[in-house]
Amino acid sequence: MSGTSAQGPRLRPTLDGIPTYKPGKPAGADAYKLSSNENPYEPLPGVLEAAVTAAGSFNRYPDMAVTGLTEELAERFGVPVEHIATGTGSVGVAQSLILATAGPGDEVIFAWRSFEAYPIITQVAGATPVPVPITAAGDHDLDAMLAAITPNTRLIFVCNPNNPTGNVIHRAELERFIDAVPRDVLVVVDEAYIEFIRDPEVPNGIDLYRDRPNVCVLRTFSKAYGLAGLRVGFAIAHEQVATALRKTAVPFGVSQLAQNAAVASLRAEEALLVRVEALVEERARVVAGLRAQGWEIPDSQANFVWLPLGERSAEFAAAATEAGVIVRPFPEGVRVSIGEAEGNSIFLSVAEAFRKTL
Ligand SMILES: *Cc1c(COP(=O)(O)O)cnc(C)c1O
Repeated sequence: MSGTSAQGPRLRPTLDGIPTYKPGKPAGADAYKLSSNENPYEPLPGVLEAAVTAAGSFNRYPDMAVTGLTEELAERFGVPVEHIATGTGSVGVAQSLILATAGPGDEVIFAWRSFEAYPIITQVAGATPVPVPITAAGDHDLDAMLAAITPNTRLIFVCNPNNPTGNVIHRAELERFIDAVPRDVLVVVDEAYIEFIRDPEVPNGIDLYRDRPNVCVLRTFSKAYGLAGLRVGFAIAHEQVATALRKTAVPFGVSQLAQNAAVASLRAEEALLVRVEALVEERARVVAGLRAQGWEIPDSQANFVWLPLGERSAEFAAAATEAGVIVRPFPEGVRVSIGEAEGNSIFLSVAEAFRKTL
């Protein structure tokens, strides 16, 4: 029975329907982990040093206002400091966004399949998830998402590029969509992978938010910046929304290690972007290799590729594990992160062998 038990404390019945977040499988010492879209490079020396130095004072609480990082971000993106809100990864910020906008009876729209945290954090807030199926090609169905809006809609996630398919939404399409959304509904453009985009038609969410008070941009240090383990992400939004985020965030959620490492990362951006470029080149090699094998796959603009394998997804993942690469199976397909070249090559050979069984 939902939420009840003869002995234990009474829990909220809404939790019964919530799947727990499934992290990418940890890889054994001899396997390549291509399951969580992490940056395969070790931290840059200067970034590591910043974190280690900050570790020397972790008996103290961190700067609750995240002053240094906020100022650095405001400068970097040309936005007022009041428009920046940080959190424990962009998932933490996304959760704060939902807590700030939606509760029981309210609806949160997102494409599906998309980032698996969306339905979970929506339900944790007691709000109703409204998943809108992506197209057969792996794109957001923006018209269907508009049609799903009701008077109860409070927030819409747009994942650009989409995790796990890698598909992007172009500028004209996204502007038309946002401008058709009622002004009192918050549109959150999740740009976790923006640094990997090479398609010039994809807009930068920051250009879209500037004169649209109901648009919020979500960014993270977990992917291109390589700070996944430190948990730091941020939103850029107009003051009303950003202020609400500071109320709903966990106090002192972003550690001083994370704050200082993020600042150091921004300052080391040039070196980091060289690594990102190498990953983009690896992506091109992997995509070309898969297509040469006969796979029909979306044109990923993120640091992963998508094999729409349907019910054979688990089987593919098992074959990959057997060969020494950990990938991420979903019911609809398999997502494979772009990692070290050797890992990517093992994945390509698994894909080639599997292709012959289709
Ligand atoms: C990885 C990812 C995030 C970032 O998560 P963090 O909490 O910042 O580590 C956000 N959105 C999407 C779509 C992602 O894939």
